[in-house]
Amino acid sequence: MIKRLFALAGIFALLTISGNAQQQAAQSAEHQSPDHQAARDIFKELIEINTTDTPAGNVTTAAEAMAARFRAAGFPADDIHLDGPLPNKKNLVVRLRGHGQAKPILFLAHLDVVEALRQDWSMDPFKLNEVGGYFYGRGTSDIKDGATLLVANFLRLKKEGWIPSRDLILALTADEEGGESNGVQWLLKNHREWIDAEYCINTDAGSFESRKGKHFLLGMQTSEKNYVDFRLEVKSNGGHSSRPVKDNAIYHLAAGLSRLANFDFPVSLNETTRDYFEKTAALQTPEIAADFQAVIGSDQAKASAAANQLASSPFFNALLRTTCIATRLEGGHANNALPQTAAAIVNCRMLPQDSLQNVQSTLKRVLADDRIVISIVGDAVPAPASAINPFIVHKLEKLSAGLYGGIPVVPVMDTGASDGKYLRIAGIPAYGVPGVFEDEDDDRAHGRDERIGVKDFYDGVDFYYDFIKALAGQ
Ligand SMILES: [Zn+2]
Repeated sequence: MIKRLFALAGIFALLTISGNAQQQAAQSAEHQSPDHQAARDIFKELIEINTTDTPAGNVTTAAEAMAARFRAAGFPADDIHLDGPLPNKKNLVVRLRGHGQAKPILFLAHLDVVEALRQDWSMDPFKLNEVGGYFYGRGTSDIKDGATLLVANFLRLKKEGWIPSRDLILALTADEEGGESNGVQWLLKNHREWIDAEYCINTDAGSFESRKGKHFLLGMQTSEKNYVDFRLEVKSNGGHSSRPVKDNAIYHLAAGLSRLANFDFPVSLNETTRDYFEKTAALQTPEIAADFQAVIGSDQAKASAAANQLASSPFFNALLRTTCIATRLEGGHANNALPQTAAAIVNCRMLPQDSLQNVQSTLKRVLADDRIVISIVGDAVPAPASAINPFIVHKLEKLSAGLYGGIPVVPVMDTGASDGKYLRIAGIPAYGVPGVFEDEDDDRAHGRDERIGVKDFYDGVDFYYDFIKALAGQ
């Protein structure tokens, strides 16, 4: 997953780790309520079960451990489903019954984690370590924290006897990080009735961001760019390189690629990126803020000048347009032979409002050579954006006002991919709401010594309690 999406183009100084650690440590002692202790136990259990896509990893073990907790809490057996395509890749789906006043809400986190090698870490990645105000371990930020927030609160709400207005579904799934058995896809295909919902809240997307210990943004993911690879291939006759001809597959391809290098897809905003530029302008330097305002303004000339300025940042550029970039190249078969084949892979990240057909025909026009044959690699199914849901935004804004001093709630489009994609393709809108604040300069997901702040974790547990009740209260 990709959670960090608020780029400030390096304007702000890096946080001093030690200062923040002290703050986190000082605050962590306050959090010893039974609900926090229960959440910590769940978190520890999840972190210490290896769920990597390796022979040592097993998602089912984690799913079963959580299922046991739901059984012990009195969830009926019929409302707990544990299933998947492989013995070690089972997903857990749990239903908290409500009054049936609307279609259910689905809450989602994946159980699998990216491999972590002991020698790469300064500690055992499969032990929950609490040091200096941080929880360390593989999955602490991606996304066993999110899974814990959901499990802990489903259990707490059940224990309190709270009945939501509608069914609430929790899905903890396999193979989000790779592997062959993506749990969300499998559930949609084989047991849609278990997870069918009006919309999904995904803890593994969006971003709650802080800077030097100060919260500044609640980013709710509504959409993401769509990934597609194109293969460009040119054939020529070949022959002995001592008697060359001008018709050369490598030259055809190279000339086409240089035309592509000089091309940019047009700027295209959508509901989410417009809102993003509007609501985050105040968080930027005056210069960038002016560009954010101009790019969504009605003056076309100013908007296009602002877009050009912003495009110098790879992140802003990725928000503004579909991008296509050559990533691989192959060609020829011997040093002394004319090439018979030359090929390249062009990786595109399409805006959700863009279409495969449009991107492919644009590539054809820009490459401007009928000898370059363009084909799509694999099966690319683009996902639409989820329309911004005003009810959810309103609830988040109320929580932001009550908990975080009213920092802005901003819809965001991720430039990478999440499991929300499969739900959106299946017609279930998905919204990424992580619940746990992370420092914008301290993203260690997939990396060494992955961690989250202890206080941020407990705050996330409390946030999700309020958030679930706000979404499904009477
Ligand atoms: Zn993830």
